[in-house]
Amino acid sequence: MAGIDPFEVVVAQLERAAEYMEISDEALEFLKRPMRILEVTVPVKMDDGSVKVFPGFRVQYNWALGPTKGGIRFHPEETLSTVKALAAWMTWKTSVMGLPYGGGKGGVVVNPKKLSRRELENLSRSYIRAIYEVISPYTDIPAPDVYTNPQIMAWMLDEYEWISRRRDPSFGVITGKPLSIGGSVGRIDATSRGAVYTIREAAKRLGMELKSATIAIQGYGNAGYYLAKLAPEILGMKVVAVSDSKGGIYMPEGIDADKVLEWKRETGSVKDFPGATNITNEELLELEVDVLAPAAIENVITGENADKVKAKLVAEVANGPVTPEADKILFEKGVFQIPDFLCNAGGVTVSYFEWVQNINGFYWDEETVYSRLDMMMTRAFNKVYEKHQEKKIHMRDAAYVVAVERVYRAMLDRGWVSK
Ligand code: GLU
Repeated sequence: MAGIDPFEVVVAQLERAAEYMEISDEALEFLKRPMRILEVTVPVKMDDGSVKVFPGFRVQYNWALGPTKGGIRFHPEETLSTVKALAAWMTWKTSVMGLPYGGGKGGVVVNPKKLSRRELENLSRSYIRAIYEVISPYTDIPAPDVYTNPQIMAWMLDEYEWISRRRDPSFGVITGKPLSIGGSVGRIDATSRGAVYTIREAAKRLGMELKSATIAIQGYGNAGYYLAKLAPEILGMKVVAVSDSKGGIYMPEGIDADKVLEWKRETGSVKDFPGATNITNEELLELEVDVLAPAAIENVITGENADKVKAKLVAEVANGPVTPEADKILFEKGVFQIPDFLCNAGGVTVSYFEWVQNINGFYWDEETVYSRLDMMMTRAFNKVYEKHQEKKIHMRDAAYVVAVERVYRAMLDRGWVSK
């Protein structure tokens, strides 16, 4: 969003958290920089026979803990700074979860809504040709993110296999695939399911009754839709508002997630859903609800509107939805935040399960995926919460301390930096 540079946010967050931990200056300097940036041109043959070129990136932020891991975004406002920030957050995300991965991210500056299906396939394959040398099951492993999905992962995997002349276990080069070609059960709703588990844990600590508690969700992509479905299903919550990039709806009696999805598919937006009141995205963030879940893009709760947030609990399902200035305001108001790279880590955690299954060639059932995800989300939440209690610091700072300490330890053991 205009005015706030996402990578500057990352550096500010890191510097703030560093005050609460023992870390050498050289390690801090190292962690303020991505280890590798690849900038590419992605040519796409269009349906009318012309060729359009789109700028693309892949950032491998830090691989002290293992191969870099993180999604690919197709977004018209993508910038290198955003991709760098998202790659840094992936580094903290895999670390806080205890996964054997570093962090990375990719992006193409494109509006995929303006492409035909064939053009989208051409774009996906062309992007893989452009970044081919830097990815593999053991170096850098992409996945879906904003405006990319399992079908896009399928085309990307297929292109990778045509180039490499390899088959399984090359499956493990990309996660978030369809089930037919090495995907994992439970990956499609994993981000939201993981978020639901963290909301459950946070509510326990806050003494908040979740049955019939209200939740407003900003965003109706993969994360927003599944959250609207699973929060009522698993926790008995009531979803009173949802939105997408065009606007939102408010329904105090609670929305039916599938009916709203159907409406969005037919009309292009959740807006004007029969029986609901239209609201703006700004109004959604300021609703009188128990839980607020920004599940779309970065920098939506800022110094400008944080004071107007009325929810007691903010579950950051998107990456980077709250700015450092807003963090301070919310903290002072006593709003409890589940920081993004903890709250939304369910996606990459089930991506990890998918990768493990691909490499072993042995596939798990739903129950195994759900119970292991629950166990890992709960464990990570507890670790961060304990740090937050012990040091009396913001949940984000606590999550940073847990995540950065693990990366730092690996960097020390590798001899990359000294104490
Ligand atoms: N794009 C997701 C995220 O931001 C998932 C990444 C992955 O599965 O590797 O966490």
